[in-house]
Amino acid sequence: MAREIIIAGNWKMNLLPDQAWDLVEGLKDQLKPQSGLKVVVVPQAPLLPLVSGWLDGSFIEVGSQNSSEHLSGAFTGEVSPQLLRQLGVAWGLAGHSERRELFHETDAQVAAKADLLIQQNLTPIVCVGETLSEREAGGHLAKIANQVKAIYAQVPKEAAKHLVFAYEPIWAIGTGKTATAAQANEIHQMIRGVIAESTCEFIAQATPILYGGSVKPDNATEILTQPHVDGLLVGGASLKPQDFIQIVQAFDHL
Ligand code: PEP
Repeated sequence: MAREIIIAGNWKMNLLPDQAWDLVEGLKDQLKPQSGLKVVVVPQAPLLPLVSGWLDGSFIEVGSQNSSEHLSGAFTGEVSPQLLRQLGVAWGLAGHSERRELFHETDAQVAAKADLLIQQNLTPIVCVGETLSEREAGGHLAKIANQVKAIYAQVPKEAAKHLVFAYEPIWAIGTGKTATAAQANEIHQMIRGVIAESTCEFIAQATPILYGGSVKPDNATEILTQPHVDGLLVGGASLKPQDFIQIVQAFDHL
């Protein structure tokens, strides 16, 4: 089954409005829509209405870095997925490792966030992945499988087709270390197996699984050509227009 390729740039807590404008203008200028490719930028929450406006009419879509598992109410500091949708945001990261590690988000919370994003017509990109010590101790497969299973324990089967996953080994995020293309493919295949067990083979084959962790222009093509890799979640390199443009252009080599 030919799955769409998704390339998303997670800006994290970076870029002021003028810097974001320059980046967006560069992307609009140099990237062209192509069938089978989605490009998403993921700014800080207060930039979302601006970026969404600048990208109005463009093929480049906008995602949020985090959103609440609640729709509205007394949750000071949180961001509702309902508001995000109204601002033109179409995608939402859920359970990025920085949210899980630094802000102690649990598997159940991540699953509730993903579920609510789908209910609000946003596509969740659920991040899963292991630390170096978990990999070295041999517990990484079980950890990742449990993170994936927790999502299907919450998201009903009829909504499961809207999920996207990103495998992001924590030891590769922002470290310059990348999983080899073969390591990424192996984990993606395992994740697809867990999706099949949790839902069915059809949904497993249709679900995009992105790779994230120090993706750069010089490794993007090798990773993207792996059969179970359906896109890239890019952190640091997405802040540099030329790097992100070259990463997106890896699509041309498929
Ligand atoms: C990320 O934050 O999702 C990420 C993959 O970061 P980097 O590309 O900088 O490793």
